[in-house]
Amino acid sequence: MGNKRLFGHISDYAVNHWFESRKDMSKVGLHRPLQAGISGSGNEGADSIVLSGGYEDDEDYGNVIIYTGQGGRDLNTGKQIADQLLTLGNLALAKSRNDGLPVRVIRGWHHKSPYSPEAGYVYAGLFKVEDCWREIGRSGYHVWRYRLVNVIDTEYPDGESEQATQPSKPVRRATSIQRIVRDTRKAQEVKERYDYCCQVCRVRLEGLAGPYAEAAHIIPLGKPHDGPDTVDNIICLCPNHHVLFDLGTFAIADDLSLIGIEGHLYIQAGHSLSREYLKYHRERYGSQHL
Ligand SMILES: [Zn+2]
Repeated sequence: MGNKRLFGHISDYAVNHWFESRKDMSKVGLHRPLQAGISGSGNEGADSIVLSGGYEDDEDYGNVIIYTGQGGRDLNTGKQIADQLLTLGNLALAKSRNDGLPVRVIRGWHHKSPYSPEAGYVYAGLFKVEDCWREIGRSGYHVWRYRLVNVIDTEYPDGESEQATQPSKPVRRATSIQRIVRDTRKAQEVKERYDYCCQVCRVRLEGLAGPYAEAAHIIPLGKPHDGPDTVDNIICLCPNHHVLFDLGTFAIADDLSLIGIEGHLYIQAGHSLSREYLKYHRERYGSQHL
């Protein structure tokens, strides 16, 4: 089967397929490494991960998994003894997020979750890396965290070669669905307040049916952040600055100057942002992590 990294399902191995050992999964290419939890590289992305209970910070909600990156652990005790870096497998998962690549997720019997098998390993299907950030783990050291969301199977029909070459199209569709869901009345209110002008570059995009802007939540909505859907947690941005804000390319200081890029956040009288929320974003997304 060659050495090309395959993204997406592996033919003949459906969701819920059970494997006795890591070796069996490696042989068929579902998860190649025999030891590492993350299969991937920084320039290709991550094609699969195994949840095996190594990290106390993991959270498993079934279709949403908050996964902790690798590194910084004592090999004998398993205890976190150093900060995790955005390198190797951690960088691979961040690359998958940027490129919208699907990650095969496997739950091992060691993994503490109602969804894990009593023995062996179960293929949980394809997940999308929706978000990644850095935070202080329970150990007191920095860990990388990833929000993985189950991809509905119809988005990746069948045939591994097709998924390997064209993963971006269906993922883009899923992203746009999510944007619609997030466009709440509060978000609309903020966009109208700024007349659809980006609060960073002041650009206003004109579509045929009117202006277009995006509402960015400073603390993201949804698990594990559970940011509030309130105007003190929402800013109005152009698509480019929205992406850069979510990727951590820039953050916002308490005085609303920008960190990471030049400039200052434009703010209207009467729209106050929570300093606590800005700090939350800065600490997890806004600093130089390499
Ligand atoms: Zn902008």
